[in-house]
Amino acid sequence: MEEAQRPFFHSHMAFRTASMPSPLCEAEERKRENIRSLTMCGHVGFESLPDQLVNRSIQQGFCFNILCVGETGIGKSTLINTLFNTNFEEHEASHFCPNVRLKAQTYELQESNVRLKLTIVNTVGFGDQINKEESYLPIVDYINAQFEAYLQEELKIKRSLFNYHDSRIHVCLYFIAPTGHSLKTLDLLTMKNLDSKVNIIPVIAKADTISKSELQKFKIKLMSELVCNGVQIYQFPTDDDTIAKINAAMNEHLPFAVVGSMDEVKVGNKMVKARQYPWGIVQVENENHCDFVKLREMLICTNMEDLQEQTHTRHYELYRRCKLEEMGFTDVGPENKPVSVQETYEAKRHELHGERQRKEEEMKQMFVQRVKEKEAILKEAERELHAKFEHLKRIHQEERLKLEERRRALEEERILFSKRKSSCDIFLNQSYMASGSNIKKDKDRKKDPGYRFELLCFDVRTCETNDGRKDAEEGREGHSTRGRP
Ligand code: GDP
Repeated sequence: MEEAQRPFFHSHMAFRTASMPSPLCEAEERKRENIRSLTMCGHVGFESLPDQLVNRSIQQGFCFNILCVGETGIGKSTLINTLFNTNFEEHEASHFCPNVRLKAQTYELQESNVRLKLTIVNTVGFGDQINKEESYLPIVDYINAQFEAYLQEELKIKRSLFNYHDSRIHVCLYFIAPTGHSLKTLDLLTMKNLDSKVNIIPVIAKADTISKSELQKFKIKLMSELVCNGVQIYQFPTDDDTIAKINAAMNEHLPFAVVGSMDEVKVGNKMVKARQYPWGIVQVENENHCDFVKLREMLICTNMEDLQEQTHTRHYELYRRCKLEEMGFTDVGPENKPVSVQETYEAKRHELHGERQRKEEEMKQMFVQRVKEKEAILKEAERELHAKFEHLKRIHQEERLKLEERRRALEEERILFSKRKSSCDIFLNQSYMASGSNIKKDKDRKKDPGYRFELLCFDVRTCETNDGRKDAEEGREGHSTRGRP
């Protein structure tokens, strides 16, 4: 990033750090870069540069973003109110949130002529779920999202970082419950996952609920647990001589044991912020009672600028580097030669082109394979259909032959019948002709008395025969009608 594009504090920090290297190192540097040192003959005016920077930054205003991580009801809101001596109107959170949610609220504060845009990010529902394994994820996602927003702004062609509202988290106040035992798994897991992304300042909340000796032991235990588990917490910088001593001393006091309260209680003839109990008063700003003042001094008065600087140069830089590497950017090529953005772009384009061609080839092969499979299936279906058709054709052929045979048989029968019919007709005609002459002979015979007697005898015989048949039929049925009335 170009120096002119950086927010003020970074330029200012660059100025501060640039003035810090030892004269020996500076001389070597100048020699290496072939820079000559000259003495000026009179006043020029660039000595006012620090004042110019201060004036510009005062005009611009400052921005500071605090993330408060801790269980619901541990005293986060109260401590933030106490730190900035104002009521931020935070609504009380319930213990029934199904998951952890991050809630950011930005406030404009002014002290003398210095304006501060303060963003407080609260972890709503933290520690309230039965399964707390992934409670840190929403926090990590939130921090990354702020880095991503800044990176996107940086990568824009038309950047406006000068008046960009920087939402990157500068410090994470991690609230530890005053159990006197040890860190909870949730605390360790969360801090471990956050330490490479944000400056963590651990604080023991509600320190008035733990005795002085227990607190000392608890502090030592916590620090050793953090070290054992490789959790990197923020260390107040000791590279600036003006603040090195105080910062080094404060590093020894970590984690700060704090008490928060906005209540004013009369102590002597002064009104002080305190928590009043039946047995006495805990004064928030009394260094014998808790570390609240130390925290406020370190966080706001001494190291606010360093926290911003660390966020930019350490945590954001790490995020940016990983992201750019993921995108294919690199500073040096295979032979350790510097690679320009253009070269990286070309290499990436080439790589993507190759990737696309490979994918296309894969898809083509897959397509051909699918077509082949489909073809085989269709061919099989066609073969089955053909076999079915042949089978049906054979059945049809057999049926047709059978029908043909029957037709022929019927035809023969019909011809035979016709022949019989015609011979019958001839016979009937002949009979008819013959019966014509017989009728006349009958008439003559009926007149003959002997013939008439013969006829009568025949009738009697016929009647007897008919009666006998009738009797036989009735006897078969078992119901002879003969003899019935
Ligand atoms: P948050 O949910 O973490 O924001 O917790 P709050 O700030 O709303 O505090 C929850 C309760 O704890 C309130 O009743 C506060 O008065 C109380 N509280 C806050 N700070 C302290 C403290 O330092 N000591 C004690 N004993 N109680 C505190």
